[in-house]
Amino acid sequence: MSKIPHILIIYTGGTIGMMKDYKTNALKSFDFKHIYNSIPELNHLDCSLETISFKEPLDSSNVNPRHWEKIAKIIQDNYSKADGFVVLHGSDTMSYTASAISFMIENLDKPVIFTGSQLPIGDLRTDAKENMITAIEIAAVQKDGKPRIAEVCIYFEYKLYRANRTTKISAAQFRAFDSPNFPILAESGVELKFYDNSILVPSKSQNLIFRSIYNFNIILIKLFPGITEIVLRHQLQTPDLQGVILETYGSGNAPTDAWFLNLLQSTLEKGIPVIDITQCVAGSVVLGKYETSVELLNIGLIDGKDITTESAVTKLMYLLSVDEAKGKIKEYFEKSLRGEISEY
Ligand code: ASP
Repeated sequence: MSKIPHILIIYTGGTIGMMKDYKTNALKSFDFKHIYNSIPELNHLDCSLETISFKEPLDSSNVNPRHWEKIAKIIQDNYSKADGFVVLHGSDTMSYTASAISFMIENLDKPVIFTGSQLPIGDLRTDAKENMITAIEIAAVQKDGKPRIAEVCIYFEYKLYRANRTTKISAAQFRAFDSPNFPILAESGVELKFYDNSILVPSKSQNLIFRSIYNFNIILIKLFPGITEIVLRHQLQTPDLQGVILETYGSGNAPTDAWFLNLLQSTLEKGIPVIDITQCVAGSVVLGKYETSVELLNIGLIDGKDITTESAVTKLMYLLSVDEAKGKIKEYFEKSLRGEISEY
C-alpha cells in the first residue's frame, strides 16, 4: 500500500483563527486548537496532518520580514518529511509574504499553499472551511508519485493562484485575491481541475536552496498628480536607502519635469536601483511607448513590466540580500526567477 501524503500546516494567524475580544469587541487571533476543533472534517482527509503554530498568532498587518524568515525556516526544517505545506495567514499581507517565500526558496519541488479567510472559522457563513480543506487537498495531490503543484501558491475562494502574481482586491468579497496578469493554476468545482499550461515545472537537476531576506532598506513611492519636488527629494534622501520602487501611471509613464528626472537620475548615479512598475491593476510597463517614459528608459530605470507591487517589493529586497545579484539588479529584476514577471 502506498503511503498517504504528509502535510505540514503552518499557522501564523489571520482572520481564519480569530474571535471577538470581549473587552474591545475587535477581532483577535486565537490558537490553532480553536481552528482544529471547528473543522472535524480535517480528520477525514486522505493525508496525515501535522501543525506548527506561531506562539503568538498575528494579524498579518504585523507580519514583517522576520516572520517570512520564520516561515521559510519551518519549511526548511521539515522539508524532507512533509510532502506539502499549507500556510494559514491573514489575507491583508498574504501576497507579500507568499511572494517573499517564493523568492526565498529556489528550486522548490513541493507545494507551499497559502490560505486564510474573510470570515473567522466560528462564523456560520465562514469561508475558512472550504479554503483550508481544499488548500490541504491541493497540497496532497500527487501524480506519478510527485506533487501535482511544486510552487508557492495562494488558494482562495475556489481558485489556485501563483502567489507572486496575486494582489488582494477586496476586503468585503469572499474573492479576496486576483492574479490580473497571469491565469489561475487550478480551480475547485465538483472536481479539482489543474491547468498544466500555467503550472511551473520544477527543475530536476538543480539543488534546493533557502535564502534569507535581510536587506529591506527600500522605499515604495506612488506617484500622484501634484507630487512636489520637496516630497520626492525627502523620500529619495532616506538614510541608507538601497532601492526604490516607483509606481508610475499607465504603461510606466511619469512627469517629464526636469526636477523630477534630475532627482531620479541622481538616485541612480548613487547606485540605487529604481524600478518602474505600474499603478494599474492589470497590464504592463512599456518603457518608451509614450513620450512620458522615454527619459525614464534613457536614464536607466529598471523595467518592472507586469509585476505586482507585492512581488516587486519582495523581489527587490531579495535581490538586495543575495550576493549573486550584487551589481546585477537590473539583469535579475527584468527576468523571471519564479514566474513572477512576463519575459518579453
Ligand atoms: N486583518 C486580517 C489579517 O490580515 C485580515 C484577514 O485575515 O483576512 O490578518
